[in-house]
Amino acid sequence: MTEPRDPDGASPLAPSPAPLRDILASAGISADKRFGQHFLLDLNICRKIVRLAGIVEGQAVIEVGPGPGGLTRALLEAGARVAVVERDPRFIALLENLALSAGGRLTVIEGDALDIDELAVLRGLGTDSGGHIVSNLPYNVGTPLLVKWLTGDFQPLSMTLMFQKEVALRIVASAGQAEYGRLAVLAQTVCEARSVMDLPARAFTPPPKVASAVVRLIPLEHRPPRDLVEALQHVARAAFGQRRKMLRSSVRFLGGEQLCIAAGIDPDARAETISVAGFMALAEAWVAPRN
Ligand code: SAM
Repeated sequence: MTEPRDPDGASPLAPSPAPLRDILASAGISADKRFGQHFLLDLNICRKIVRLAGIVEGQAVIEVGPGPGGLTRALLEAGARVAVVERDPRFIALLENLALSAGGRLTVIEGDALDIDELAVLRGLGTDSGGHIVSNLPYNVGTPLLVKWLTGDFQPLSMTLMFQKEVALRIVASAGQAEYGRLAVLAQTVCEARSVMDLPARAFTPPPKVASAVVRLIPLEHRPPRDLVEALQHVARAAFGQRRKMLRSSVRFLGGEQLCIAAGIDPDARAETISVAGFMALAEAWVAPRN
């Protein structure tokens, strides 16, 4: 069998560090599928993700789903102040142990990341100047969490997130690509989105069925106002709900041909060929007569 390689292909993966494996074994913890648990036990990979995230000393970071804490350790090594949100209570004592050696830079929160108020979490870290998200996301809630961060009150300074490869492709896809759809349109309306690292399934313990990829999202300097983002989601839902139909038909209830003409979009075009800017034009045209 060939040795697994570092994602950039430069060197063989370091063997999984004994401490994380041992910590899991001595706590009697095995992965629980209900929580989408696939652990990164190789600290070199965790460090690489933190480097790709550009995290430097003093920055505030929220990490969802720290599990045994590999990525958390790498974030702490980089000098970040970190708040972790973990739903599985079996990890809390382990994480609190890690917090004891983190000199006050690690806050452990037990709960569901879908329900947490990130702004309150950041205030707890002592910052009003925003925070970053770095996370190996649980597969089952990865997309709803991303949508929450793209559309909610809390606007992260950056997001560096591990997804299933197929979801990563749906986030970064361009018009005309098979994976292009509502998620790409929403993500690229508010952020610049790039896939920055691929990871094979064998990099995780236990290995998932599919490969993974890290996506980095940086908010655009001129982010559209929230009501326009909501309108865009509405238009994209209608258009991609019937992606094989022409827009004149798929967005019929939002104005159909008239709406397309007002937006400068060909009514005979299909959703999958309309660029993110085109969807923004459709959203603007839809909102305009109502203002
Ligand atoms: N960060 C760890 C790593 O890389 O080894 C674990 C990643 S594992 C893919 C996902 C983690 O998210 C698990 O620890 C799981 O218990 C946790 N999790 C699952 N659903 C969650 C939720 N709704 N809120 C917070 N954590 C959750």
